[in-house]
Amino acid sequence: MYYLSTRGKGPPVSSAEAIKAGIAPDGGLYVPDSPVKIDSRQMEEIRQKDYCGRATAILTLYLTDFTHGEIGDCVRGAYSPLSFDHPEIAPLRELEKGIYVLELWHGPTSAFKDMALQALPRFLPLAAAKTGEKAEIVILVATSGDTGKAALEGFRDVPGTSVMVFFPDQGVSEVQRLQMVTQEGRNVAVAAVRGNFDDAQNGVKAIFADESIKMDLRERGYKFSSANSINWGRLAPQIVYYFSAYLDLQQKGLLESGEPVNFVVPTGNFGNILAGFYARQAGLPINRLICASNENNVLNDFIKTGVYDRNRAFHKTLSPSMDILISSNLERLLFELAGKDSGAVRQWMGQLKEAGRYDVGKGILEQIQNIFWSDFADDRETLLTIKKTFENGYLADTHTAVGINVYNKYRDLTGDNTRTVILSTASPYKFNGSVVKALLGDEPVAGRSEFELLETLSRVSGTEIPRNLKGLDKKPVLHGQVVNRDQMSEAVMDFLKKPC
Ligand SMILES: *Cc1c(COP(=O)(O)O)cnc(C)c1O
Repeated sequence: MYYLSTRGKGPPVSSAEAIKAGIAPDGGLYVPDSPVKIDSRQMEEIRQKDYCGRATAILTLYLTDFTHGEIGDCVRGAYSPLSFDHPEIAPLRELEKGIYVLELWHGPTSAFKDMALQALPRFLPLAAAKTGEKAEIVILVATSGDTGKAALEGFRDVPGTSVMVFFPDQGVSEVQRLQMVTQEGRNVAVAAVRGNFDDAQNGVKAIFADESIKMDLRERGYKFSSANSINWGRLAPQIVYYFSAYLDLQQKGLLESGEPVNFVVPTGNFGNILAGFYARQAGLPINRLICASNENNVLNDFIKTGVYDRNRAFHKTLSPSMDILISSNLERLLFELAGKDSGAVRQWMGQLKEAGRYDVGKGILEQIQNIFWSDFADDRETLLTIKKTFENGYLADTHTAVGINVYNKYRDLTGDNTRTVILSTASPYKFNGSVVKALLGDEPVAGRSEFELLETLSRVSGTEIPRNLKGLDKKPVLHGQVVNRDQMSEAVMDFLKKPC
């Protein structure tokens, strides 16, 4: 199988090339040139396997220039008991009859980003070797919190790679900040940027686009790549858990073979839900993919009207990992639905850049609405949902609560009783301030540090604090650097001068 750029200006490439590059040279995103198909006999075969076996079988169909053995090694390294605290990796929990939560946060950083960022760092050095790359791969990340830590943890001490993360100095939670500045590993660096997430993100984009920096690094034996969800190597591992959840329900006798299921996805950059689209394309019987947004509901408006319009106020919400106005991965969906028409994609993305807005028209909109449904939840609804869900026996974080709230709206409005899986994207402990506030009100939260609140949450819920968050406030700070936006490239250069 080959991979095409959604902007259509370069030649098709192997999956190794796509993973190594991250983004295509023409600015597009890589997608498979033909759909993968998994039939019922293959499903039956995969069903018998554990998570690693299922992942190996499915990824082998997408990454055709990797051997089965290579993929198996990467997968077993990624989803090992050393880094995941649950033997099933992505376990299902029943919320009520016919409604399940898929917990994607049992990895080393307590958010679903680990499902992909434990795998990508294992594929990337192999991809470099396969494509004859001699340079060391440098991963630059701008993060609003979860991606940065997951990338650091995934790439730490991976030979042939270095990773540097920039986060907005006032823009992340105390838990998220400490997770990053205490990061260990020989090939990692972290810097706070004075400003907000956009400053950090624009700074990284400027470095990626700077030809003189790239030349300079080339001469010194370095090459940039990306660990954001624009990289196909991050998207592909996410297709696996849609299949795995379905097969688990079958294994437990809760689902007939071929019976359709809904998936509800708390969405920001449209990476997670797009993996669901590819699972459906590969033959998984998905009825509806339900896109759940917070108050930054640009995707909800798009799915309802076909008009994507980013010209609106940005809201800082209690589900910060979904605070996003440009969902990069939508480009892949549009390319697929437009029949791989890269001209149309170039036009829409051009309009987005120039005017912040594009309209995909009736034909594409109808296709979208055949597959997707969408709605959003504001912060007040999110807190109420956490409280109500807890009273019914399940402790959800703010992002997962947005998903649960939107699913309830879906069921009320459509009356659809299809079995449904709601993706849970973060541990409640990662956003413990908001979760405690939802359960106990404002008073217990006021004036308390996030670390005292970990204990409070554990006591109130009778659940255990994840091991990576426990004692985080006592770990030494290893990365105290704070830089201005215009000092970011210097920080990268300094980091790469250090002997690893
Ligand atoms: C990244 C993230 C999301 C959004 O996922 P996308 O793939 O960007 O749509 C949702 N919840 C949490 C906790 C996240 O970290």
